[in-house]
Amino acid sequence: MVSTNTLCKEILNVKNAVIEDCIIFDDADGVKHIRIKARPTKTHENDCPFCHKPCPVYDKHSSKTRTWRGLDWGGIIVEVECQTHRINCPEHGIYVAEVPWAYPGSGFTKDFDLQVAWFASYLPRSTTSSLVNMEMYKKSRFHLCVYQATPEPFCHDEL
Ligand SMILES: [Zn+2]
Repeated sequence: MVSTNTLCKEILNVKNAVIEDCIIFDDADGVKHIRIKARPTKTHENDCPFCHKPCPVYDKHSSKTRTWRGLDWGGIIVEVECQTHRINCPEHGIYVAEVPWAYPGSGFTKDFDLQVAWFASYLPRSTTSSLVNMEMYKKSRFHLCVYQATPEPFCHDEL
């Protein structure tokens, strides 16, 4: 039998992460959510989100809990929760440390961002908006970053 840890990591498509907890709850509108509490492994907890090198911690004591939206699991909203902190990369400067499931600055998992990018490339905007609940997407930092071969992202500010 597969453990919850392994199942969550496989479905989120992440390595270098530890799943600490997983809860299921209904929100005020009766919509089911799965919230996965995760963190990068100790080896990668201070990695720069651009060069992926380990860096000195900038402000670990002011860490915040953030949530990223993932791809739905059979109509259940998936969220990943993690306590973040900033690092000071000698090359790139002060940034929130990398989390393995999301691109820098995104409030969504990599798989979610890539799926939206694929939809936006092949489908009309209205269809894409409908498929991924774009109203919710616009409320957050509407900022879709897609990585190419280089670690520097290019961003689409609108779809
Ligand atoms: Zn860096």
